[in-house]
Amino acid sequence: MQKREVYKVEGDKIVRVRRTCPKCGDGVFLGDHKDRLSCGGCGYTEFKGKVPEKKP
Ligand SMILES: [Zn+2]
Repeated sequence: MQKREVYKVEGDKIVRVRRTCPKCGDGVFLGDHKDRLSCGGCGYTEFKGKVPEKKP
């Protein structure tokens, strides 16, 4: 079984492509949704983007 890379390299910086749950710790990844990330274990939710888009 091939182990998938959790990080990808863009230029000279490393970008984490999957977020881990801060409550469950490393190894538990947050589910990627359209506008948020959520943990299936503890229910932690993190919304993408700090500034919500405003419709004109
Ligand atoms: Zn969790």
